[in-house]
Amino acid sequence: MSKTSTKVVSAGRSKKWTKGVVNPSVMRASTVVFESVDEMKKATRKRAQQTLFYGRRGTDTSFAFQEAMTQVEGGSGCALYPCGTAAITSALLSFLKTGDHLLMVDTAYEPTRDFCNNMLAGLGIETTYYDPLIGADIESLMRPNTRVVFTESPGSNTMEIQDVPAISEVAHRHNAIVMLDNTWGSGVLFDPFAHGVDISIQAATKYIVGHSDVMIGTATATEACWPTLRENSYLLGQCTSPDDIYLAMRGLRTLDVRLKQHEANALKVAQWLETRPEVDHVRHPAFETCPGHEIWKRDFTGCNGLFSFVLNKGHEAATTAMLDGMKHFSMGYSWGGFESLILAVNGIQRLRTATQWSAAGPLIRLHIGLEDADDLIADLESGLERFNAAL
Ligand SMILES: *Cc1c(COP(=O)(O)O)cnc(C)c1O
Repeated sequence: MSKTSTKVVSAGRSKKWTKGVVNPSVMRASTVVFESVDEMKKATRKRAQQTLFYGRRGTDTSFAFQEAMTQVEGGSGCALYPCGTAAITSALLSFLKTGDHLLMVDTAYEPTRDFCNNMLAGLGIETTYYDPLIGADIESLMRPNTRVVFTESPGSNTMEIQDVPAISEVAHRHNAIVMLDNTWGSGVLFDPFAHGVDISIQAATKYIVGHSDVMIGTATATEACWPTLRENSYLLGQCTSPDDIYLAMRGLRTLDVRLKQHEANALKVAQWLETRPEVDHVRHPAFETCPGHEIWKRDFTGCNGLFSFVLNKGHEAATTAMLDGMKHFSMGYSWGGFESLILAVNGIQRLRTATQWSAAGPLIRLHIGLEDADDLIADLESGLERFNAAL
C-alpha cells in the first residue's frame, strides 16, 4: 500500500476521470442526455455506480473526488455534501428513526449538539451525551434501541482524545454503528476504518480544501453502511457543486505536505506557550497535558495546526485586549486554511451536559498556519503582554 503523501497525490486520478490530463475537469451538469431508450435504461440501472445519470447523482468531477477520498481515507464509498454540517446531519438522519437512541460525545462540534437537541429530538430520537474519556465504559449507556454512537476525536475546543477502538467494540456488540467526526484527522492522521469506525465524516472545508475558500463535506463508509448512506443522502437531496469539488481535490494534492508544516509550526508555538507563566496547560494532543494523550500516541500518526491552551487566570476583558491587537492571527470560526487564527472560547460549560469544565482561566484556541512560527510566537508574546496589562 502506498504511503500517505503518495496517496493524496495519486488518488482519484485514473484516466477514466482525467481523460489523460493531470486533473479531472469541472464537469457541470443537471441534465444528462441519452440517445436511445436502451442507453437511458442502462444508466438508470447503474445510477448508483458512478455513471452519468442526472446531475444530482454527480458527474465525473464528483466521481473522481469520491474515489480519491475512498482511496485516501478508506471505506467502500464516499458521499459528498455542501458542507461538513450537512455531512453530519445527513449521516445521522440516514441511520436514525423515531424511537431510536443516539449516544453523542459531550465535546461535539456545537452545531452537531444543536442538531440533536432541536431536530432529532423533534423527530422522537433521543440523545444521551457521554464523557469523551468514557472508553469501554460506554457499555453502561447502551440501550436496546441505541443505533448510533457518535464520536469526535479530538473533541471540539478542549481536544480530548477518545478511545475509538474500545467504544467501537462495545457499540458493535450491541448492534450499533459508530460515526466519527474525523475533521481533525483529515483522513491522514487517523485511520478510521482500522479503528472500528463505520462512517467517517469530515468538514473537508478545513484541511482538505486548505485555503479557506470552499465549504464541502464528506462521509466515507464501510461496505455494510455505504448503500444506506449513499441512498438516504441522495433522498435528502445532498449534492455538491463541481467547482467546489474541483477546489477540494486541488487542496487534497498538497494535504500531506501542508499538514507536516502546520504540525511543525504548531508544535513550536505550543512548546513556547508551555514555558509561559500565564499558561496553565496546553491542550495539544502531542502533549501529556492533553486528556487522552496516550490514546493519541497509540492511534494517530501525527498532528496538525489546531490546538488550545488554558490560561491560569483571566477574564473576558483581558482576552479581548489580547485578541484585538494581533498582527498575524485573525479571528474566525473556521480553521484548516493556510492562515493563523485565534479564538477565545467562552462559556464552555454551556456546551456540556455530561461532564464538568472547570479551568483556572479562559481557553484560547489557535489554528497555526503556514507563516513563520517565530513571527507567530512574537505576536502571541505581545498579545500576552496586553493580556497581563488588562488583568
Ligand atoms: C467546521 C467543522 C464542522 C462543520 O463543517 P462546515 O463545513 O463548516 O459545515 C464539523 N465538525 C468539525 C469538527 C468542524 O471543525
